[in-house]
Order: sequence, then structure tokens, then C-alpha cells
Amino acid sequence: MTAQYDLFVIGGGINGCGIARDAAGRGLKVGLAEMGDLAGATSSASTKLFHGGLRYLEYFEFRLVKHALEERETLLRAMPHISWPMRFVLPVSRDMRFDNTTPTSRILTLVMPWMKGRRPDWLIRLGLFLYDNLGGRKILPGTKTLNLVGTPEGAPLEDRFTKAYEYSDCWVEDARLVVLNARDAETRGARIQTRTRVVSADRRGDLWHITLDRKGTIEEVTARGLVNAGGPWVADVVQGVVRLNSRETVRLVRGSHIVTRRLYDHDKSYFFQGSDGRIIFAIPYETDFTLIGTTDQEHTQDPRDVVCTPAERDYLLDFANQYFKHDLSADDVVWTYSGVRPLYDDGAKSATAATRDYVLSVEDSGPVLLNVFGGKITTYRRLAEDAFDKLAPFFPEAKGNWTAGVPLPGGDFPVDGVADLIADLRAGYTFLSDRWAGRLIRAYGTEARAILGAARTSADLGRDFGATLTEAELRWLMAREYAQCAADVVWRRSKLGLHLTQAQIADIDIWMQDHAPHAAAE
Ligand SMILES: Cc1cc2nc3c(=O)[nH]c(=O)nc-3n(C[C@H](O)[C@H](O)[C@H](O)COP(=O)(O)OP(=O)(O)OC[C@H]3O[C@@H](n4cnc5c(N)ncnc54)[C@H](O)[C@@H]3O)c2cc1C
Repeated sequence: MTAQYDLFVIGGGINGCGIARDAAGRGLKVGLAEMGDLAGATSSASTKLFHGGLRYLEYFEFRLVKHALEERETLLRAMPHISWPMRFVLPVSRDMRFDNTTPTSRILTLVMPWMKGRRPDWLIRLGLFLYDNLGGRKILPGTKTLNLVGTPEGAPLEDRFTKAYEYSDCWVEDARLVVLNARDAETRGARIQTRTRVVSADRRGDLWHITLDRKGTIEEVTARGLVNAGGPWVADVVQGVVRLNSRETVRLVRGSHIVTRRLYDHDKSYFFQGSDGRIIFAIPYETDFTLIGTTDQEHTQDPRDVVCTPAERDYLLDFANQYFKHDLSADDVVWTYSGVRPLYDDGAKSATAATRDYVLSVEDSGPVLLNVFGGKITTYRRLAEDAFDKLAPFFPEAKGNWTAGVPLPGGDFPVDGVADLIADLRAGYTFLSDRWAGRLIRAYGTEARAILGAARTSADLGRDFGATLTEAELRWLMAREYAQCAADVVWRRSKLGLHLTQAQIADIDIWMQDHAPHAAAE
């Protein structure tokens, strides 16, 4: 029988899953198809920050910055397991330059030509003042000035850096955010299908007739409304799936990151400004590593063919070497990843200058279609609400906004409650090391206990595949988090791939294929 939905969503990135969750909670019958794995594209390749975007202030993107700043704490409260506050150290130096295309730099060049493109200290302070005050902070501490001489924050940096500013933003596990939104949507009645491509969508009368291809099995479903959250493929979906002409285009801008062994001993991140006007971050990552990124490169190839090029790697190494005392080389890079930003094409000159704000376009020459262009991880919840504002006239029965303040699965505990949860878990399961318990709480929050069940020893959790990944956890990931192969587990549901060998990852894959529910059916 043909499944009939109110709303069907194309794309299982953060925007598609956020919209599916929001709409399901309003009482609509929602379907979602993702052609690969959830967060398989851009939404697992971000810098993983809930941030206002300090640098966007130079572009006068006050609306975007304000909304994003306001969202940080709303999101932090809803997912205190996968998101946490982070302090950023911004060293000050006379070499820092503007990107000369920003409105701020053009004004400054006009009124203070003697600055010759330098980004003055007082302007950074002004930017941080706005950053502290635009978004109504309650949890996150404000900016302070930092002496770098003889302090842990100054220790890894070259001696010429003596002063810095320190401000707040938040970290988020991007790919887990997507999966938890999908799970919550499913709990509220949505149907989430992964490895399922939407091949066509046609308007017939009041309904969309949508054809899905799941590994060669074709299914047709209907829906009263269609959301195109195809990310880097948003324009391909408009042209190839829905077959409409549209003036709106997407600008694909690749961003790459490199990962090195841990470069310093404290838990703060660095915000480095370059002489080319760009900025990069260096962030403590997965306990033993440091994450450095990102780049801004026009991407003209297929969005799936996205890798960190040697030139991007060297750019990031050179940039970081302007700050760190000990020079890094390509040999220090243990992993790289890359993603494509699906930005709304606003005609900006450079990739760095293209807007990071989102555009939602509605096409209603029949049953409604909503296309999502751009957007940040940070603004996904607001984007879903705004999407529904546009869809509301077509779904008069739907309930109002509801997601602010409602926790994601496992996130129903206080923002400062992680240490207590870890201690409780260790008390209940005495075989867990501190690191193992910490990893489970940071991934699953209050649901960690459901994975461990009645285990009294680690052997009760079944085979240990390495890095504390056990059969019990794999079973949970397959049954509850849509994981189907090792890559889903070690690069998206977790980053355990950084701690496992190729042989261990291959073993995980074999075990998962042997235990897949569909393996028996097919
Ligand atoms: C390098 C980099 C750093 C970033 N850093 C940050 C940051 O720190 N903070 C922040 O807030 N934001 C950040 N962003 C932005 C953020 O990651 C993206 O805006 C966001 O992930 C986009 O999500 P999306 O759902 O629109 O796209 P995607 O995650 O790409 O999802 C789209 C999905 O649609 C699927 N799809 C496409 N066509 C079909 C079809 N026909 N059938 C079925 N499925 C289909 C694709 O497989 C894909 O999974 C960063 C982005 C990049 C690239």
C-alpha cells in the first residue's frame, strides 16, 4: 500500500532532520529519505561549533549573529551531553589583517588609511563587546583579557604573543546532533529511511507522488508538502528530482580540517587571525588530538568528491605555524576531513564573503515545495521553525512552535550535570574506566545505562572491538541509531576511527553485516 504523508523531507542532514522533528512534533505525519547515511555529507564535516560567528560581524551580518548567539544556550540546554561550553583564546598581534572585501575594512580604509588593512585591537574588543551582548547570555561567561606570558594558554604559542582575549562559544558533536533529531522525529511518529534516494517527485492534483529507491527497491509514496533539504544537492533536487526551473542557485564552498596529535595541555581553543584576513581555529579534539580548520575553497566537482587537498593541508599547517612555537609538518597530520557548504548564492565576490545565512523559498503552483538554501548547524532549530512559518498556511491543523526547551534523547539533565552522570554510571558499573564512562555519557547522556543494561562485567557486553566499543554498543547503534556499516559507527555516531586500526574497523564491518536485520530478510 502507498504510504501517505503530510510532509515528506528529502535529505537527512541537520536541516532535513531538524525540520522532520519539528513537523512531527506538530502532529504531522512525516517521512524522510536520506540517500546515504544520516549526516553523511556536510553535517558531519563542520567545525562543530554552536557559535554566533564572530567574523560575520565584519560583514555586518547582525541578524545572523544575533540569532545564532541566542540559539547557543537554547541548544546547550537541550543537549548537555553532546554539546558543551568552550573558551576561545584570541591572541592579539600587529600582523593581523582584514579580509579587504568586508564592509568594515572598506570603512576603516576610508577613515583610517594609515592602518593599511590592519585589524586594530580596539575593533576586536568592540566586536567582542557586541558578541557578548547581542545574544542574551545566561550560562556562558563573557570576554576577558588574558596575559599570555607564563600562562598555560601562552605556553604553546610563540613568545611574541603576550596578550589575548578570551571569549565563549560552544562545541557540538554535529553528526550525533543529526541522529538524535532523527530519533526524536521517529519517536514522534516520523518514518526515517536511510540509504534511500528520492529519484523523482511529481505533482498530481493535491499531492506529491514521490519515488524512492532503496538499494534497487522502488517505492512510491505521497505527501501534501515536500521539503528539499538536499544541502549541496539542493539545486540538483530542484532540477533533477522535482524538475522545476528556479533562479535560486547554491554556491558550493569546500572547507577542510586537519587533525594532529594533541598540541597542548589545556582545554581551551584558539582563534587565530591570519595575514590574509581569514581566521582558523585550533580545538582540543577527542581527548588525544587537536583539530585545525578551516579553509574556504570554491568547489566545482561533485559534492561527494570532497577531500582535503595537499594545498589546503599545507595552508592550514602554515597558518598554525605562524602561532605555535613548535612547527607542524605534513607528518603530524593523522586525519583530515572535508565538507561542502551549500551557501545561498548572493553574488559575493569571494567564497569567504558569501553569506552564511539561510534562505527558504516556497513554490506553491500546486502542492507546496520548500527549498532550503544555506544555514548553519547552530541555526538548524530556528531554521526549522522558520520553515514551518512558511508551510503553516498549507497545514492549518498543525500545532505551534515547540522545540525550544525540549531535550533531545539522552539530554534530559542539567547543563552542569555531566560529571555527576559519569560518577553515577561508574558507581553502577564498576568495571568502567573514567574515560570509558565519560565517552558513553558524552555520546548517550542519560541513555548510557540502557546500553549497558544488566552487565556486571565488561565481558557481559560481548566482544570488545577496541577503544571500548563493544557488541552491546553496536547493537544499540544498529537498532536505535540507524547505523548499517562500520563507517557509520566509527566516523559519524562516534570518532572512534581515530583510535582504531584498519583491521579493527574491518572486524566491526563484518560483525555488523552478519548481524544486520536486513541481512536475514534479503
Ligand atoms: C567546513 C565546514 C565547517 C562548518 N562549521 C560550522 C560550524 O562550526 N558551526 C555551524 O553552525 N555550522 C558550520 N558549518 C555549516 C553546516 O555544517 C552546514 O550548514 C549544515 O551541515 C548543512 O546541513 P544540510 O542538512 O543543509 O546539508 P547536508 O548535511 O549536506 O545534508 C543534505 C543531505 O541531503 C541528502 N540528499 C541530497 N539529495 C538527495 C536525494 N535525492 N535523496 C535523498 N537524499 C538526498 C544528502 O545525501 C545529504 O546527506 C560548516 C560547514 C562546513 C562545510
